[in-house]
Amino acid sequence: MSGEGWPNPALEADIPALPCPPNVIEWLEKLPPQILEIASTIAQEGGGIWIVGGAVRDVCLGIDVHDIDFAVSLKPEHMMNIFPNSLPTGIDYGTVSLRGDGVFYEATTLRTESAYEDGRRPEQVSWGVSLSEDLERRDFTINAMAIDIARKVMHDPHHGLQDMEKGMLRAVGQAYRRIAEDGLRILRAYRFLDRGQAGVWKFDSELSEALRQNSHMLKAVTHERIWMEWLKILSGKNMAKVVEKMAHDGVLDCFLPGEWSAQHLRLASLDHHYIYEFDGLTRFSVLLAECSSIEVEEALLALKLSNKERTYILQLHGRFGTLPQETLASMRVFRAVLAERAEQHLKLEIILRSRGISPAGGSGSEKADDVYGLLETFEALAPLKSGHASLIDGHWLMERTGMAKGKALGRLKTWLHRLQIERDLADSDEVEAVLCALHWTEENHLDWPKLQYPD
Ligand code: ATP
Ligand code: MG
Repeated sequence: MSGEGWPNPALEADIPALPCPPNVIEWLEKLPPQILEIASTIAQEGGGIWIVGGAVRDVCLGIDVHDIDFAVSLKPEHMMNIFPNSLPTGIDYGTVSLRGDGVFYEATTLRTESAYEDGRRPEQVSWGVSLSEDLERRDFTINAMAIDIARKVMHDPHHGLQDMEKGMLRAVGQAYRRIAEDGLRILRAYRFLDRGQAGVWKFDSELSEALRQNSHMLKAVTHERIWMEWLKILSGKNMAKVVEKMAHDGVLDCFLPGEWSAQHLRLASLDHHYIYEFDGLTRFSVLLAECSSIEVEEALLALKLSNKERTYILQLHGRFGTLPQETLASMRVFRAVLAERAEQHLKLEIILRSRGISPAGGSGSEKADDVYGLLETFEALAPLKSGHASLIDGHWLMERTGMAKGKALGRLKTWLHRLQIERDLADSDEVEAVLCALHWTEENHLDWPKLQYPD
């Protein structure tokens, strides 16, 4: 039974137990010692502790567990007393964060919730000692299972294991009511459809109907919560299929600009192998390719993306529909300006063009096959003899031209930098030779080429 250091059994749950599948037992045997200490401390206080939520779901599905959450029967103040190092990270909802070895474990006091009146949060939360009631408030059957660490047993009152075998997502209790309580569950439902290597699951019919009837509930959800879930959906291994389904079911129309339900079949075609090389943010930019830059900006502001995320998407979006020319000079400038984003840009253009997506700002007529050609040329491009940094500086240029500091000097320096890259110049003598052959007069400096992509 319990090996060395294994905690004494804590308070027993008020629902029947079943044996853990062998892979879960194996996982339990390898839990970090801090978890066993936490469990022992709680048992000594007469409390109960269970691993709940995503960790139970993922270990049962054979997926790597990324964080472990506990449900405990002790009240939050009691937890803070017996774990003096803990942090009250969500104390109003009963959550304290317990320190492990370089990680925190969230422990949430068992609770029951009153009615949800605003579609986002329960009006009132009360502490309880019933694991059964605590699991009942959870969203889907696969998220409503618990593991008793010391006894090495599971509690699965809503038959999440069976649903896993069927590849089916089902709400705990009445689907319609559960979705109407909290609009975010709509997005969570779509997120859990994506089972990575195992493909895409299905909704059970009651949940499917409830999602369709309640899609407007998303409007009551804060934008930060929507963005967090949406980014996880976009990052999934089967995101194209899930996004297509969301479009088809009218869910995308509730939080993205444009009309998506009519074009769900085209979204499925986003399933290009290149898309899976990129992160969720990049995939989002592809999805928004046909929106105008104003629409994109408004949508990203509304969803409360950070400045960094917004700038990133707007930059990608602004380049969609553009390509470098297939000359060495043009490809070199393209590579120097976009750096590690250059190859990504060509691959995104291949996705857009092979799927018949016309970016709002695009004018090019090249087809995906032409872009594959460009990608090959790009990959074969030799490194520049003296790298991408400018071989000359302002002083060097002032000495040779007699120009004073100012805008014109800066523009001439940039022009030379561009020529250095286009022609793969090796040293400042070669730059000087180019300068001597250049026809420049300061009055025209606003027309001088810049080092930029697109031009
Ligand atoms: P992840 O792998 O993203 O962490 P998760 O299921 O663990 O997925 P969390 O947000 O960490 O998601 O929530 C932990 C658990 O809390 C869930 O498994 C579920 O039981 C419950 N839960 C979370 N959000 C909701 C919600 N909106 N409605 C009902 N139960 C929820
Ligand atoms: Mg979690």
